[in-house]
Amino acid sequence: MGLGNPSGATASVSSPTNYLLVKPQFAIGYNAQRGTPTWVSWHLASTDMGAAPRQDDFRPDPALPREFYSVTRNSYSGSGFDKGHNCPSADRTRELDDNSATFLMTNMIPQAANNNQRTWSSLEEWTRAQVQRGQEVYVLMGSYGKGGTGTAGFKTTIDNGHVTVPARVWKVLVILPEGTNDVQRIAAGQARLLAVDTPNDQSVSPDWSQYRVSVDAIEAATGLDLLSKLPLAAQDRLEALVDTAPVR
Ligand code: MN
Ligand code: MN
Repeated sequence: MGLGNPSGATASVSSPTNYLLVKPQFAIGYNAQRGTPTWVSWHLASTDMGAAPRQDDFRPDPALPREFYSVTRNSYSGSGFDKGHNCPSADRTRELDDNSATFLMTNMIPQAANNNQRTWSSLEEWTRAQVQRGQEVYVLMGSYGKGGTGTAGFKTTIDNGHVTVPARVWKVLVILPEGTNDVQRIAAGQARLLAVDTPNDQSVSPDWSQYRVSVDAIEAATGLDLLSKLPLAAQDRLEALVDTAPVR
């Protein structure tokens, strides 16, 4: 949460729709009514990427209070939606435990296969390529709305209504050269800000760059306050911008 807690989530059982889960690998604002994260926040640097193989151990998150519905690895079975990571497996390969944490079901959304396997995976790979070139990246991902189209057609919920299918999947990337005093550098305009908002739909284009929007647009659609650790003047200035630079 280096750039803030977008929903003011707290680790209180009385806050099931805005429950904070903080792990060594990422932080989650979780909505137990939807069975999905509202947002997931993590930082990506070259030291996060190592040789740990993909664990594929999808499982319920033991950190959730027992009062909450527990999404399992079978909750998405036959739904026509992928178990779509928020924090990607390949962003956490330093240690086996780091990779395994990404397979907790609190890190998943029901994601249309074409979104997950094409649009999103290419955005994820592009992000890691920036890190291989000496950048560090703050990543925020989330989803909102109700109803998406997977390989078995349009659905608003799966798992007997326990898991809501989001209509939109978004991500904000703050990309800057590896270094220190990140908040100051970002506020001073030394970072590239990239926000995308995509349909959770089989007809989504594989080209994520055409879905670029402003951070303001995502805040307006979700009610979240993104990048809240930045001074307000910097938020006002930076969040209104839409990245149009070539993607390479
Ligand atoms: Mn994925
Ligand atoms: Mn903001």
